[in-house]
Order: sequence, then C-alpha cells, then structure tokens
Amino acid sequence: MTSAPSLGRFILAYDEFLQRSDLADLAPLIRGAFQTAGYTWLLDQNEAAAVQVYEGMTQAAAAVGEGVVNLAPSQHPDWVRLGLLAALITWCSGKSGTCTHVPNPMRPQPVAAAAWKPNLVVCDACRHLLSIPRGSAKDRTCDGCGVITEGIDHGDPIWPVSVAHGGFVYLVGVCASCRYWEE
Ligand SMILES: [Zn+2]
Ligand SMILES: [Zn+2]
Repeated sequence: MTSAPSLGRFILAYDEFLQRSDLADLAPLIRGAFQTAGYTWLLDQNEAAAVQVYEGMTQAAAAVGEGVVNLAPSQHPDWVRLGLLAALITWCSGKSGTCTHVPNPMRPQPVAAAAWKPNLVVCDACRHLLSIPRGSAKDRTCDGCGVITEGIDHGDPIWPVSVAHGGFVYLVGVCASCRYWEE
C-alpha cells in the first residue's frame, strides 16, 4: 500500500512531467511501451473516454453560448492542476470513494470529481452526486481563494469550470479574481 507522502511525491512528479516542454516527443515512446506491454486496449479505451469527455464538454459549453478553452497544463494555476492530479491519483490508487458503479481506472470511461466533494469519483450517470444546492453558500464559494461571493444575481458569479485530463473531469468553481482564462 502506498503511503500518503509517497502519493504526494508522485502527484508532484506527475505534475512536473505533464509540464515538460518535450512531452509531445515522449508521447509516442510511452504509447510504444504500453503497446509492448500488451496494454493497447487500455490506451484505446482511454482515448475513447477522452473523446467522449471532450464532445460532452463542447456540447455543454455550446448550450450556454460558450466554447471549450484549450489550455496547456502550465496555464492552469497550481491549485487546479494539483487538485485534479490528487483526485485522479488517489482514485487510481484505490483510495477514493466512488458512486455505486465503482468506476475503475482499468476500465476507462468518463468520470468526474469536484473540488468541493473531496474523495469522490463518479461515473457520467452519477454526476448529480457532485451537485450542490443552487445559490447555497457552498455554491457561491470559490475553490481557489475560499471567498463566498454574493452570487450571480448580484453580479458576483462563480464560474463553473470543468478541466479534463483524458476521461477524467475535475470540477471547480472560480470567482472573478481567481478567473485565469481569457474570455
Ligand atoms: Zn455511477
Ligand atoms: Zn477566488
């Protein structure tokens, strides 16, 4: 069993790896290693889950008149990147609670976790388990700085942000001063 400190070190190492400038050159090597090890099916399923997530995000964004913003890992603040990776890696190490469908990283499918519900990973059908009462203090809380906003009705909204890493989606709520992407 992996202890928490080594899990933390792995999260930081993986975060650094994802920000390597030569990541694009390494991708075919990693793919080759997976193929040699007989895990082509896992790569294929992972890719299918990632495509499904991207299409879902595109549709959801279009429904509110927006588009998907494509950012490199380094363009997200630490708290978003490390929050996502901590949720992902905790789940991969079998230490995360899940919905009753018990999504498993070895059976890739779109899954989601939220900054405001630590230690829970749900499948697409169970997204409602991550929802919080609309307009409640929790719903108006920024996951970046912890401020409780007045709410959208008072011109002080929290932006709901979905960040995807393959088929894994991490949800955060961001206040106006923590907003980190261009319109
Ligand atoms: Zn489920
Ligand atoms: Zn904030």
